Amino acid sequence: MRIMRRKEKAAQAEAADSLPVIHVEGHRLPVHARVHARARRIILRLSPDRTALRLTLPHNVPIAEGLRFVETRREWIARQLKNRPLPQPFRHGLVIPFQGEPHLIVHVPGARGTVWREGSGAAARICVAGNERFLPRRLTDWLKTQARTALLQACQHYAAAMDLKFSRVVVRDQKSRWGSCSSAGTLSFSWRLILAPPFVLDYLAAHEVAHLAEMNHSARFWQLVRTHCPHVDEAEAWLKRHGGDLHIWGAQAPSS
Ligand SMILES: [Zn+2]
Repeated sequence: MRIMRRKEKAAQAEAADSLPVIHVEGHRLPVHARVHARARRIILRLSPDRTALRLTLPHNVPIAEGLRFVETRREWIARQLKNRPLPQPFRHGLVIPFQGEPHLIVHVPGARGTVWREGSGAAARICVAGNERFLPRRLTDWLKTQARTALLQACQHYAAAMDLKFSRVVVRDQKSRWGSCSSAGTLSFSWRLILAPPFVLDYLAAHEVAHLAEMNHSARFWQLVRTHCPHVDEAEAWLKRHGGDLHIWGAQAPSS
């Protein structure tokens, strides 16, 4: 959802080490602050994976004031951390969402280490063969491949429709955003989009492809996305409501 130029990326990596940190009930939370010209007030959010804070400041509010505001919100932060769903490491018997539908993870012992999907509806399952010790990694790799295939197809569709060209599609476990578009034309996405309903993944593809033409979120950008993608608002609403929960799947319990 964001455009990152190489310089900005480097600057961000550098800044990550020197971020202010707040400790709440044993959790160490870095505070990512940014100034937003149109923000009317200070806005504090937990990152989707609930391991960091996002602080949005109106242009005339200094960061020190923002951090004082964070201090006043300790109870709220503690409550948010308590209410977060628990991480669910991949294991036999776990039900995970795949393309928005529940799928049972089934370990198939004794077979070669492959992964496949079978059944549908209530009987839908993802089977993982091979040594059970490698199930989490095998399933993660398989989900990433599925995500990349689906995203590549969707990006090709939108690139053709918008008459644009991208250089490649990569999937990663990016925590802070669902997708990004580099000035070199690389479209990056979170593999976790394969867990969401297909219209969400489809929208993210349209969104990042449109950044190839408009490296901003201007009215022209949105017009381009909306012209080609029929479910922008539904997808944005879905991500706002459920996006954070996608981060619990396959995640290890936090060490703090
Ligand atoms: Zn964007």
